[in-house]
Amino acid sequence: MQTENKTMKQLMQEKWTKRPLIISGPCSAETEEQVIETATRLAKTGKVDVLRAGIWKPRTKPGLFEGIGAKGLSWMAQAKKITGMPTTVEVATAKHVEDALHFDTDMLWIGARTTVNPFSVQEVADALRGVDVPVLIKNPINPDLELWTGAIERIQKAGIKQVGMIHRGFSNYGNTEYRNAPMWHLPIEMKRRFPEMILICDPSHICGNRTNLQSISQKSIDLDFDGVMIESHIDPDNAWSDAKQQITPERLSEMLDALIWRSEATDKQEFITALATLREQINHVDDELLALIAQRMKIADKIGEYKRANNITILQTNRWNDILQKAINKGDKLGLSQDFITKYFDAVHLESINHQNKVMNS
Ligand code: PEP
Ligand code: MN
Repeated sequence: MQTENKTMKQLMQEKWTKRPLIISGPCSAETEEQVIETATRLAKTGKVDVLRAGIWKPRTKPGLFEGIGAKGLSWMAQAKKITGMPTTVEVATAKHVEDALHFDTDMLWIGARTTVNPFSVQEVADALRGVDVPVLIKNPINPDLELWTGAIERIQKAGIKQVGMIHRGFSNYGNTEYRNAPMWHLPIEMKRRFPEMILICDPSHICGNRTNLQSISQKSIDLDFDGVMIESHIDPDNAWSDAKQQITPERLSEMLDALIWRSEATDKQEFITALATLREQINHVDDELLALIAQRMKIADKIGEYKRANNITILQTNRWNDILQKAINKGDKLGLSQDFITKYFDAVHLESINHQNKVMNS
C-alpha cells in the first residue's frame, strides 16, 4: 500500500504540471456500477487525467439527491485501482476532508457554495493543516473576487502548497444564455493576481446544457486556462443530478479532439516580430486615446466653470441620452458593440461628472 500510495502521489504530481489538465467524471457518484463504468470508459479514451465525482452534494432545495455519502469514496478508490486514474471529490466540512483522505483521494476541490462562506472555508483549511494534497478552489457563486481570493489565502495559510482555481461562472437572476454567467474578466483578473496558480475552466456548470460546452471550453483555452473539468456520465439523461449538462465519456472524447489547444508563447521569430509590431501600434493608439480623453476632461472642466457661474445642474439627462444614442449608432457602423459603447460612455460620463463636480464645488 505504501509503494502504491507513493506512485499515486508521483502521478498526481505529474498531472498537476501537465497541460492541458483534463478532469472528468459524474456530477454525483450514484452507484458503484455507474462510478466504475464511467471511470473505465473515461480511461479508455486515454485523454482524462483525473476522475471526479460529487460525494456530498450541496443542493439549493431540500428533497433533491444530496449525494451518496462516504460509501461513494470506496467506489472511487475501486475505480482508481481498476483504471489507475487519480481521483478528486468536493469537500465542504472537516468530516468530508477526513473521509476523503481516509480513502486516499488524490485531490480535493472546494465548491462554489462553500467558497462564499469563510466559516466553512476556514473549517476545511483547519482540517487540511499538515496534509499534503492538491486543492482546487471554485469561484464563489456571486461575482466577488475578494471571497475567492480569501478562500485561496485561507487554504494556503493552512500550509497547502498545491492550490489551484476553478472558474465555474457566477449565478445571476433570471434566464440567460448560461446557467452561470462566465464573466471572463473575473478569472482573467484572478490570473493577474495569481500568475503562477493553475486555473481550470468548468464549462459544465457555466453552460448548464450540452450545447455550449465546446465553445466555452475553446474560449477558456484561448484565454490560456490550464485545463477543463467536464462532467460525464454513462447515461446522462438519467443522471441523479445535473442531467442536462452531462455527456458520455465517448462524447467527451470527441469534444476534446475537436478543441484547438494553443500555447501562450512560441519561439518562432516571424510570429514574435509580427506580434511586437502590432503591439507597438496598439501602444501608440492607447497613448492617443488617453491624451484625447484627458482633453475631453479639460473641456468638461470648462463647462463646469460655466455651469457654476450660471447655477446650472451638472447632469442634463436629454443631452446625455443624445450623446449615447449617437455613439451607439456610430459604433454600430464601426463594428463596436452596443454593450461596449454603453460601458465605455458610462465610464467617460462618470469621470466627466466627477471633474465638473470638483470644479463646481471647489
Ligand atoms: C459540482 O462540481 O458538481 C458542483 C457542485 O459544482 P459547483 O460547486 O460549481 O456548483
Ligand atoms: Mn454538477
